[in-house]
Amino acid sequence: MNNKTAEVNITGIVQGVGFRPFLFNLARDIGLKGYILNRGNAGVRLVLQGASNDINKFIDNVKKKRPKISFIESIEIKKFTTEQDFKGLEIKKSEQGRGISLTLPPDIAICDECIKDMKNQNLSKYYMYPFIACAVCGPRFTTVKELPYDRERSTMIEFPFCEQGNLSCVKEYSDFDNRRFHAQTFSCSICGPNYQLYNKSREIIEKDSIQEILKTTAKRINEGEVAAVKGIGGVHLVCLAENDDAILKLRKRKGKRKYKPFALMMPNLEIIKKFLYISEKEKELLTSFRRPIVLLERKDAFNDSKISDQVAPGLNNVGIMLPYSGIHYLLFDIIGEKPLVYTSGNASNIPMGIDNNKIFEQLHHLADFFLLHNRTIYQRADDSVLRIHNDKVKLIRRSRGYVPEYLPLPFEVNIPGALSTGPELAVTGAVLRRNRIFPTQHIGNVTHLETYEFLNDALFHMKKLLQIKDSEIKFIACDAHPTFITSKLGKELASQFNVPLFLIQHHFSHVLGLMAENNIQQNEEIIGISTDGVGYGDDGNVWGGEILLCSYDGYKRLGHLEYQPMIGGDRCTKYPARMTASIILKSLGVKESIKIFKKLNLERDLEYRNNELDTIISQFEHANNKYPTKNIPLSSSTGRIFDTVSYLLGACSIKTYRGEPAMRLEGLALKGNPTKVELNIKYFMNNGKYIIKTSDLILDIINLLRDSRCKREDIAAKFQIEIGNSFAELAIKLAENYGISKIGLSGGVAYNYAFSKAIKKKISQVGLKFLEHNTISPGDAGISTGQLIGGLFKYYKEN
Ligand SMILES: [Zn+2]
Ligand SMILES: [Zn+2]
Repeated sequence: MNNKTAEVNITGIVQGVGFRPFLFNLARDIGLKGYILNRGNAGVRLVLQGASNDINKFIDNVKKKRPKISFIESIEIKKFTTEQDFKGLEIKKSEQGRGISLTLPPDIAICDECIKDMKNQNLSKYYMYPFIACAVCGPRFTTVKELPYDRERSTMIEFPFCEQGNLSCVKEYSDFDNRRFHAQTFSCSICGPNYQLYNKSREIIEKDSIQEILKTTAKRINEGEVAAVKGIGGVHLVCLAENDDAILKLRKRKGKRKYKPFALMMPNLEIIKKFLYISEKEKELLTSFRRPIVLLERKDAFNDSKISDQVAPGLNNVGIMLPYSGIHYLLFDIIGEKPLVYTSGNASNIPMGIDNNKIFEQLHHLADFFLLHNRTIYQRADDSVLRIHNDKVKLIRRSRGYVPEYLPLPFEVNIPGALSTGPELAVTGAVLRRNRIFPTQHIGNVTHLETYEFLNDALFHMKKLLQIKDSEIKFIACDAHPTFITSKLGKELASQFNVPLFLIQHHFSHVLGLMAENNIQQNEEIIGISTDGVGYGDDGNVWGGEILLCSYDGYKRLGHLEYQPMIGGDRCTKYPARMTASIILKSLGVKESIKIFKKLNLERDLEYRNNELDTIISQFEHANNKYPTKNIPLSSSTGRIFDTVSYLLGACSIKTYRGEPAMRLEGLALKGNPTKVELNIKYFMNNGKYIIKTSDLILDIINLLRDSRCKREDIAAKFQIEIGNSFAELAIKLAENYGISKIGLSGGVAYNYAFSKAIKKKISQVGLKFLEHNTISPGDAGISTGQLIGGLFKYYKEN
């Protein structure tokens, strides 16, 4: 007997995505014998018998040929000898007592085979049927109510399979060689859900023929109307990207949405390449089964006017996605190769509606007509948004196509479960299950009851999916900010489960997520650069430009941006002119500042003009250089410095959405040459901490602006790099002092490419290892993950 036997254990997302048939076919084709066993949450076990070479070839093939939608966490191989002689290859019933699989795939874009079927006139059950799907494509997370993942526990239970005829859905489902074998969320035009077209008064205008529905939809969009189109995880507002009037109409109807960029959907890569630069990595992400919105740099201008400048005013990056569901492909087939505005259909700060009544209620003043379907969306999932820095993914919004994937922690975890509630803006929650962290889908800004409820529901849904019992929740983690609504939720959950509540500092949370995704071990320390707009600091001040010495069980603040007064508190966040005034007043005093304010015409950019400027000055005088006060908090925020520079350089005078000044500054800098100006940022030591001198920086920029030879674009370009350099230089100095070899960058400012690149370059030049994000969001969507890690180590300390 030459035959060898091996036991192969594979863990990861291997369930419900056609992975077992894939393994079966692979082993069968090589002629291996033995069996395949579903081990529930522990993955899949194969016992394979055959020549040693063949077994190795099989394992190679698993890695090489695995379906793109599968995710392999680990492959464990044990070779052994046995007397047993396997006669064939079989799929065995699931192992008893191992539990069911607690991994569920995210929603998967329609696959090429299904697109082909959808266009095949001879295949009447699927021809032009937008809900077509198979074992490797279609909705998952948004339809599944609980695990194990099968049809009974998904919203597809409302649509029983058709049974008549040769190619009935029942037959396809039970035929091992069919692509729809054991696929849970497919259906056909005979048995499945359908689209209907409605006017604003909720009356059906068209329902019987998908051809007629699409024709009318295309016609009305072509005429400049705005459609509400329900899809996989929610509803979109859709109009022509070339039509200024349509977009302006939409902006006007949205009220507050004066300049905030809209995402576009383009029919294919060729059209994208016409308007935008695209790298190999960006192409890979755009066409992946996740189909996220990818921020791409636009070519010189959207010159042939196929795209309105109103799409993303003042920005060089535009969010682009490709079609990902049947309805998108069918719509482009009729409307032609025209880019479409494809933006989430929600009212400001309210989660997007997912049932038809809510959609009508929320969007009746925004959309001209409604293309809605009758399939229940069980979980809301917005489109994911990201940008690429070289080959690294910077997730901005992690939702459809990513949720409910998990982050495996690089160490063992001794408790069964825990929950975290995130920060305040761009929130996700997260659930810990042993050594895996499952972030929820994008929730949004938790400043209203609706988003608070959404966060609460999303956490409980994830907990239910993972089958974590109440008694297995060992702690709750939340932000340290005392007035965040998410902190309040944390408190409530802690009392509900009768477990401790751990407050985890915001910028430390950023770094903790970064450490875990970069496989930092439990005994390691790193220097973390954590830069963003705002986070509650241990001293009660507003932090946001921090250099921290971090291990999993704690941190020490080693350096930060100079504290600046925010006269009038949060109004400085809203009005860059106010932040600018605060910094100048602190540096130069009243008399000198007034001269500069006049030159800048600064009062123009305050809500109440001169009255407000007078108030700012009198508040400043009243404080008499003693901060913080009730009305004048102190801030070390990097975001506020970007706001100020953006304001001084004329890139953004009034902020209409979060991040706008920094994004516009980036747009301006792209046209500049950083070598044309001199700008040196200095630092000093105070109370044992290094302080980066932002007052001098702002005054230097004001001086540069007086020099007619200096161009604003050049200053913008130089500033982004120099502020990055100053963080990097300090971090390197501190790493040397503490004998540390790794420096990481996290926080929302890390989205800025020039800033990140400068830091990475400096750190790599001196031979230290630079850690950056690739799977966890650098921004506040990553906070909930860090909170769980921070909470875990606090829990260990107490137990
Ligand atoms: Zn498919
Ligand atoms: Zn059917």
